[in-house]
Amino acid sequence: MLYDFHTHTFLSDGELSPVELIRRAYVRGYRAIGVADHAGPGNVEWIVKQLVEDCRFCERHWDIQALPGVELTHLPPSTIGDVAHAARGAGAKIVVVHGETPAEPVEPGTNLAAVRCPQVDVLGHPGMLSEEEAHLAAENGVFVELSARRGHSLTNGLVARVGGAAGARFVVDSDGHHPDDLLTPQLAWKVARGAGLDEPTAREVLEQNPERLLLKLAGRARL
Ligand SMILES: [Zn+2]
Ligand SMILES: [Zn+2]
Repeated sequence: MLYDFHTHTFLSDGELSPVELIRRAYVRGYRAIGVADHAGPGNVEWIVKQLVEDCRFCERHWDIQALPGVELTHLPPSTIGDVAHAARGAGAKIVVVHGETPAEPVEPGTNLAAVRCPQVDVLGHPGMLSEEEAHLAAENGVFVELSARRGHSLTNGLVARVGGAAGARFVVDSDGHHPDDLLTPQLAWKVARGAGLDEPTAREVLEQNPERLLLKLAGRARL
């Protein structure tokens, strides 16, 4: 059973159409996929509207949960709440924030804004996650990502240690932009164990946490 809440299509900088990405994920054994294209204030609505239609279409034809969403990327931290709100208004079922990865000049304060925002579901590749950020993520039910993507994954060990000590919940995501980036059970296991999680915790992160996140997202949809 595979889950992945952070992937990209050609609506931003991925290679595949939403339908092809979801099809390939389904064939790989995914049970759920979050399609979270890079968004800012100008494109958030049209990205979400297109993803809503394609995700619905795929769910009608294949046995996979396809979640339309966005990854709020390189936004000034004080604007994250407003753009997240706009994404929800357009029908986003998942909101990821592009966290402070060591690989890119993300504005400091982004992680903190993400874990404080009630509209945010996943803090992607948080980089040097602080104790304060980890505690707020745990308190507010924001899932913290262990990334399979090169560069972003450099700090997975620190994220696992600091997040784990604070009781934050992790998910493993591909951040896939290309079909070969999609997860396999072996890769997801390596990311979880390689971050330093012991075997029972790695299993929980790969099997139970995704179902917990899906329940949270379904609860949101009913509000
Ligand atoms: Zn990208
Ligand atoms: Zn991404």
